[in-house]
Amino acid sequence: MTIENEKVVTLNYKLTDDKGEVIDQSEDGSFQYLHGAQNIIPGLENALTGKTAGDELSVSVEPAEGYGERDDSRIASVPRDRFPEGEIAPGMQFHAQGPEGDLTVVTVTEVTDDSVTVDSNHPLAGVQLNFEVKVVDVRPATAEELEHGHVHGPDDEHQH
Ligand code: ZN
Repeated sequence: MTIENEKVVTLNYKLTDDKGEVIDQSEDGSFQYLHGAQNIIPGLENALTGKTAGDELSVSVEPAEGYGERDDSRIASVPRDRFPEGEIAPGMQFHAQGPEGDLTVVTVTEVTDDSVTVDSNHPLAGVQLNFEVKVVDVRPATAEELEHGHVHGPDDEHQH
């Protein structure tokens, strides 16, 4: 069966950055997505269109087709007293309200006595993503999966 819209695809993959560092991997057949529903980044989804079970491919995804370019305007200095009591250290992450009321994750990059610098770029923004992918299985999506726009697990663990 060929990968196209409205198919559920099972993948094994390894994701590395340009330095060869492993960012993420799934090699036990547990990763599934619904093709054509923007469940995965566009650069990878496009490369998988037309593939079939057993196919292996290497895909290099530019930031524009991945998590976007880094945007320096998403780095902000915030008064220390806007944060909870206790230690704040670089690398910590917080949920914050974005300008349009959307919830975003911000990462602390610098801390001084009276201010905290936070970066709301996606951690993988600006990173070239290199995928080694093996297509494990392709099946038609169920009517319910299509309605929801995502895959439901074999045990129906998805709660509604
Ligand atoms: Zn659902």
